[in-house]
Amino acid sequence: MLQGPDIVLACPHCQSLARLFTVANPDPSGAVSWSDGYQEMPLTPAQPNISRCRNCGKLMWVAECAPVGMIDDNQPSPEHEEWKKLPYVEPVEEKDYLEALKEGMAVEPERETELRVFAWWRANDRHRRNEGPGRYPQAPESVENLERLVELLKDGEHEFVLFRAEALRQLGRFDEAQEMLHGICSDYAIARERLAELIEKKSRDVEVLFAEPQMSEAQA
Ligand SMILES: [Zn+2]
Repeated sequence: MLQGPDIVLACPHCQSLARLFTVANPDPSGAVSWSDGYQEMPLTPAQPNISRCRNCGKLMWVAECAPVGMIDDNQPSPEHEEWKKLPYVEPVEEKDYLEALKEGMAVEPERETELRVFAWWRANDRHRRNEGPGRYPQAPESVENLERLVELLKDGEHEFVLFRAEALRQLGRFDEAQEMLHGICSDYAIARERLAELIEKKSRDVEVLFAEPQMSEAQA
């Protein structure tokens, strides 16, 4: 991964500053795709969509933070050295996504879908490195979130069919999940086959769908 210049952002609530890393050249080696649609790229961290301000403690959409400047070593600004001391914008946990929903931070339905998908991913995170059964969201608030997501995705775009099938499987609603698979086009054949197997086994566990080899410049 080639890192880009950090961007300095202002909190929309209190205007205090933080910095956001950028990626100039994503490196997909070692990437892992999970059954819930989450993709992990160990060499290319994803920018957070929601963060909590270190100063005022409020949640914010990172995309709604006003950019104040850039920390570019090739073009140092007068504030350069000060800005280099700023904390990074950090990702948040499941409980924070649920709080964002409660606070009405999802102004459009697409935003609600996004927040609920991220809450679900963060709930599954604690199971990704474990073996054994029970690797699905079980806390009442996590289950409620997943049930809401299934409703939201009901009339969703084609790309959401896979998400909905997987959410239903993780809820243990296997018949409905099975039915959703018919709507998945051949572009997603590998995922469809894998989900069909898991549904057949009555498994609710989050699983790896595929993993890229852990080496850079595989084509070289
Ligand atoms: Zn703030």
